[in-house]
Amino acid sequence: MMSALLFIVVGFLTMEFSGWFIHKYIMHGPLWNIHKTHHTHTKGYFELNDLFSLLFGSIAVLLIFQGMDTLDFRFWMGIGISLYGMSYFFLHDVLIHRRVKFFKKPKHGYLAGIFKAHQAHHSTRKRDGSVAFGLFIVPFKYFKKKQDE
Ligand SMILES: [Zn+2]
Ligand SMILES: [Zn+2]
Repeated sequence: MMSALLFIVVGFLTMEFSGWFIHKYIMHGPLWNIHKTHHTHTKGYFELNDLFSLLFGSIAVLLIFQGMDTLDFRFWMGIGISLYGMSYFFLHDVLIHRRVKFFKKPKHGYLAGIFKAHQAHHSTRKRDGSVAFGLFIVPFKYFKKKQDE
């Protein structure tokens, strides 16, 4: 059962790190036309950028189905990716972008830090020059009380 937990964590962390990479070099690169709908979103509930969530979600579902019979690492990594997806939706879409108006803006602690970091990411509507591409792991400066910059 230890290895199950390990692969859940691996699946989760893989998403944060590959997500950072994909966001920085692909979404703010060749696929900017899709991702820009998230940076310039004005009306309507869905944006073209949601396709990325669909894609990652399908990878998780595929892994879970592939590893279902033997409950091998694919199954648990699929669970880890799904957990990442759910936490991502909750933090990024509900808490930060308020697609569901449910929570107030966090003022303290870890949540306030990643909130600030993601707002910094959205301070530009352009492809280049953006900062803070991760969601859960962001530069330490965003957690400090007073910001230097
Ligand atoms: Zn972006
Ligand atoms: Zn965002």
